[in-house]
Amino acid sequence: MAKIKVAADWLAACAGCEMSLLDMDERLVQLLDKIELTSTPITDLKHPPKEGVTVGILSGTVNNTTNVEVVKEMRERCKVLIALGDCAVFGGIMTMRNFFDMNEALKRAYVETESTVEGIIPSSEELSKPIEARPVNQVVKVDVHLPGCPPSADAIHYVLSELLEGRIPVLTGDNLKYD
Ligand code: SF4
Repeated sequence: MAKIKVAADWLAACAGCEMSLLDMDERLVQLLDKIELTSTPITDLKHPPKEGVTVGILSGTVNNTTNVEVVKEMRERCKVLIALGDCAVFGGIMTMRNFFDMNEALKRAYVETESTVEGIIPSSEELSKPIEARPVNQVVKVDVHLPGCPPSADAIHYVLSELLEGRIPVLTGDNLKYD
């Protein structure tokens, strides 16, 4: 039987969600009998295959113009899109920046931090532009929301196992947490 193709990417994220995915340990190895990981932060391939994948996984907050492109490309190329973790589901800690003027936030980050000496705010046409921080579902349709900071390895395993069985997972009990 052909393996189910899975792609993943992160937006503005701390990598904790990917660590949780790896925390599936030997269960991840067992899953690899049934799934093929294509583009992911683990394989370091940046774009989902043009022919598409069955499952796309996004962690992190949509925080800049490049994140928007990444989210839209993933949506176009996957059948089922999972928002993994509180940042992707709700916007997460990154949305605290929305309470401040963007220039103020950039100045604080690049110029005023106590450890910075002669800092400057990066500026180049090649750099993506910061936007108001938002969850993935404010940019594209999301099929499965998996909250948690990060979600547990058990919850991630449950979601992937249900999808492999052709079911949209319903998160309850210990699999549904918000911390
Ligand atoms: S949800 Fe938590 S663990 Fe996941 S990327 Fe955001 S801050 Fe990191």
